Amino acid sequence: MRLQCEVEVRSRLLPTCGLRGRAKGAHALLSLGRQPDRPPGRGGPSAGHSVYLMVCTARDRAGARYKLKENIEQFFTKFVEEGKATVRLKEPAVDVCLSKANASNLKTFLAAVRLAHRGTDVEALPLSVLVPAKTSEVEKPKTKMIITSRRDYPLTKNFPYSLEHLQASYCKLARVDMRMLCLKKLRKLDLSHNHIKKLPETIGDLVSLQELNLHNNHLESFCVALCNSTLQKSLQFLDLSQNKIKALPVQFCQLQELIHLKLDDNELIRLPFKMGQLSQLRFLSAARNKLPFLPSDFRNLSLEKLDLFGNPFEQPNPLVPSIQLKIPLTLLESAARATVNYRIPYGRHLLPSHLCEDLEVAKTCQCGNACLSCFIQTTVTMNLHYVAHTVVLVDNMGGTEAPIVCYFCSLTCYSQFLDRYLQSNR
Ligand SMILES: [Zn+2]
Repeated sequence: MRLQCEVEVRSRLLPTCGLRGRAKGAHALLSLGRQPDRPPGRGGPSAGHSVYLMVCTARDRAGARYKLKENIEQFFTKFVEEGKATVRLKEPAVDVCLSKANASNLKTFLAAVRLAHRGTDVEALPLSVLVPAKTSEVEKPKTKMIITSRRDYPLTKNFPYSLEHLQASYCKLARVDMRMLCLKKLRKLDLSHNHIKKLPETIGDLVSLQELNLHNNHLESFCVALCNSTLQKSLQFLDLSQNKIKALPVQFCQLQELIHLKLDDNELIRLPFKMGQLSQLRFLSAARNKLPFLPSDFRNLSLEKLDLFGNPFEQPNPLVPSIQLKIPLTLLESAARATVNYRIPYGRHLLPSHLCEDLEVAKTCQCGNACLSCFIQTTVTMNLHYVAHTVVLVDNMGGTEAPIVCYFCSLTCYSQFLDRYLQSNR
C-alpha cells in the first residue's frame, strides 16, 4: 500500500524551537509493507515478518523504515480532511508529519497503519514486500518552465500537468498552443514576444490563472468571452502592451480582480466605458495610445501609479458641448432612465438583449441621474493626481492633467455646471 504526499520526520529528542525552525515537507512516497525481521542472533531462528512504514524521498530513495506493531504513541488526525495527519512513533521518538495528501487515500492509509499497530495478523493484510521508490515517484512535480527560444519549444512532448508557471517567449507562436489550455494549475502564463493574433476563448478555462502576459504580440482585440469567463475571479495581472488593440469591450470591467493592467503602445481610441468599476486596480499604464479623453467614471479609480504619457489628449472646452438632447424625451429614453434611476431589475428574459446592453452603458449625469442616448456631453480638465499617487507626466510640457468626459441629463444640469465653471474661471 502506497501514499504520495509531503512528509517531514521530526525528532522529539532534538529541540525544535528557536533557531532550528521548521523544515519544509519533502515530496515523498510512503509505503506500508512486510519485511523479514532480523534474526536476534547469528544463526538464530528467524522472527518472521513484521509490517513496516517506509518513507522514501528524493534524497533517500532507499527510505527510512519504521516498525509499526505496538509502536504508535498517538495519531493526530484533526486535519485529515485537508490531507494532513501526524503519526507519533515510540521508537524512534519521531513524529511523521504528512501533508498535501489526497484526503481519502490518506484515510485508507491511516486505517491500515492502525491495523498494523494493533498487530493484526501480518499475513492477513494484503501487503507486499517493501521495495525502494523509483526516482519518478519521489521527484517533486515540475511547477515552472521557462522557454525563451523557438528551438527549445516542445513540439512532440506535452507540458507537465503540474505546471504553475509557464513562459514561452520569442517562440514565434502564431496562436496559443491548445496543450497549454489543459494546465489547470497554471497561475502564471507568459506568452510575450510572439506573433499571437487572437486569443482562444478557452483561455478562460484556466481556473487558477492570475497573471497573463501578452506583451509584444499581434493582438487586435480582447474578446468578450474572456471577460465573462472564470478569469473574473482569478486574473490580477494583465499585460497587453505592444499590440494592435483599438478598443476593449465594455465587459472588460468585469475582470474585477485586476490589480495591474498594462495597455501601453496599442491603438486604443478609448478606455473601457466603466473603467472606474475596477476597484482593485492599482497600477494602470496606457502610454502611447490614441486616447482623446478619459471615460467619465475614470475618476472613481484609486491608483498607486498611472501612466498616460504620449496620448493625443484634446483641449477641453466646456463652453462648446455636444448636445444630443431631444425635448421632449423619447418614450424609450424616459423608460430607460426610470429603469436605472429606480433600480428596476431587468434581464435578457425581460428585455431584448440590445436594450440590456444599452442599459449597461447608461451614462450618469452630475446630478446622479441616468441618461441613455439623450444627453449633453462635454469634457473638463482633471488633474490625474486626483486618482493616483504617482502620475507620469502626460506630455513633455510637465502636465499631469487630462480631459475627462462629463454628461448632463438636462439643460438645467448643464447650465448649473456652466455657472460653477465660469465662476471658478473668472
Ligand atoms: Zn442631471
